[in-house]
Amino acid sequence: MVLRFSQLFLRTLRDNPAEAEVASHRLLVRAGYIRRAAPGIYSWLPLGLKVLAKVEAIIREEMLAIGAQEVHFPALLPKEPYEATNRWSEYGDGLFRLKDRKDADYLLAPTHEEMFTLLVKDLYNSYKDLPVTLFQIQAKYRDEARPRAGLLRGREFIMKDSYSFDMDDDGLEASYQAHRAAYIRIFERLGMEIVIVSAVSGAMGGSKSEEFLHPTQIGEDTFVRSQGGYAANVEAVTSIVPEDIDFSDAPAAEVADTPDTPTIDTLIAAANDIRSKGDRVWTAADTLKNVVLSVVLPDGGRQLVVIGVPGDRSVDLKRVEANIGAHLPFDGDLQVEQASDQDLKRHLGLVKGYIGPGLSVDSRVLGVQGSTGILYLVDPHVVNGTTWITGANIRGKHVFGLVAGRDFEWDGTIEAVEVREGDLAPDGSGPLESARGIEMGHIFQLGRKYAEALHLNVLDRNGKLSTVTMGSYGVGVTRAVAALAESNHDDRGLIWPRSVAPADVHLVAAGRGDEVFEAAATIASDLEAAGLEVIYDDREKVSPGVKFGDAELIGVPTILVVGRGLVDGEVEVKDRRTGTAENVAVEDIVEHLNRVVRGE
Ligand code: ATP
Ligand code: MG
Repeated sequence: MVLRFSQLFLRTLRDNPAEAEVASHRLLVRAGYIRRAAPGIYSWLPLGLKVLAKVEAIIREEMLAIGAQEVHFPALLPKEPYEATNRWSEYGDGLFRLKDRKDADYLLAPTHEEMFTLLVKDLYNSYKDLPVTLFQIQAKYRDEARPRAGLLRGREFIMKDSYSFDMDDDGLEASYQAHRAAYIRIFERLGMEIVIVSAVSGAMGGSKSEEFLHPTQIGEDTFVRSQGGYAANVEAVTSIVPEDIDFSDAPAAEVADTPDTPTIDTLIAAANDIRSKGDRVWTAADTLKNVVLSVVLPDGGRQLVVIGVPGDRSVDLKRVEANIGAHLPFDGDLQVEQASDQDLKRHLGLVKGYIGPGLSVDSRVLGVQGSTGILYLVDPHVVNGTTWITGANIRGKHVFGLVAGRDFEWDGTIEAVEVREGDLAPDGSGPLESARGIEMGHIFQLGRKYAEALHLNVLDRNGKLSTVTMGSYGVGVTRAVAALAESNHDDRGLIWPRSVAPADVHLVAAGRGDEVFEAAATIASDLEAAGLEVIYDDREKVSPGVKFGDAELIGVPTILVVGRGLVDGEVEVKDRRTGTAENVAVEDIVEHLNRVVRGE
């Protein structure tokens, strides 16, 4: 069916919606794809639904192609499964909770791990049933603190979520790789540039997770990449660890009076006054800065951690949060803050401004105090044999020439310092630069966490109960529509990639006479008969200028103009992306457009 503009439920708008901060949001509203219903909640109009359906279809095809089977869960769910996994409370304010008439608790699901796990548990009980992968394309609800940028961060949004169920780690790895390859194909078909970044470092118990980011200035995620192809979330970047240094000839460490040097700058100034460093001057990089942090535990308690980092680096709390779990016996997300004065006062060994290592192990260096029982971690650059100026744990005193591995020990290493442009990628692919992106997809080896919490066990080959291992994989479907709009527009409107455009051809009848409209109508139905989707602007009392404006705003990649050239038997084909136009004979137009549309 030809979509006749005069019948189409559409009103294009000249003015930008007041609340729209980004181009995709402005244009999707102005071109009549979506309407706002409430903050972060949108209604879909006919053109919008067409694009959405095409995005969904591509995702569905690629999921089916890896053997995933489609199911559909309700969005409205009882509390109990989410209580079993602790997410009813863990989700905090992000969860939409509600009650039914009998006062029972319900929620609008933010994601569906629990339901998929329970469904498989309901129906399957043997290794013979596995592996299996299930998916759905369905609305999710999250009461985002900052719904933003239209569909990019909604409170209701559509996600494709899939879940794999395997007996063992090899199976999980295979399911994960199948999804990874499917996601690459999905974004290729959507015409969307993607950078795959590892999301958590190996420190997180080996669980693997990668995010598919679409690079764009308006993205909320920062990541780093190298020319050589390395890409990672800042949290997941790892350092190139230097070799140990032989310290057998290193001179003994010495404690020096350094009054009024509580900061690295004051310390460096004092250090250069006190003693020379041969042909160089002391810099912040020669100092070991010991930063006291407070980890907020799941029960609300606070545990202090001291992290030793080169003094020219600052600590990135997000990186610490991502990596501290490996050093503490707690599950779940841990929050990390700068230690407060209150925290410091509880540990008499901590002398603010003069904190040194030797906190959890007795240091052999004279004057440095012994154990305070605080976990002491260091940056991976602190290897055996490195020599430091650092605090002596005594007010007004620092130690010079303190040798790692000889004069002090540590409980572990942690990636804690901020990643800088120019730092080297861990895989040797060159210096890092930082960039911004939108998270479009996320693939995650969950392992047995949900299966354990919800008792998803099946009989293995030997008749023993074995816990199933799972993966979860998400793509933001409505977010993809917005991201495509964001990266495919100019100041006149949208410019859809062909694979998701609401039509193949936008036909504009630009003229007054009946002949123009009759010829245009015939061409429109011929194109449809040839299998092309057509929007036909058949409005009679609307000027060509307005029609062209609407066509450019709506963003179908090919605009066909039937008008002035008709007397010479010609119509005009315009490429919305390049702005180029060419005249084509009326009798050739179907074949010509067929080639244009299918050739891409
Ligand atoms: P973000 O970091 O952007 O909040 P997330 O890590 O919380 O996303 P996941 O739980 O991994 O998101 O969800 C899978 C996918 O769903 C994301 O990769 C993203 O494409 C999409 N998504 C998540 N939250 C939203 C939202 N509020 N609006 C639209 N899409 C979303
Ligand atoms: Mg994610």
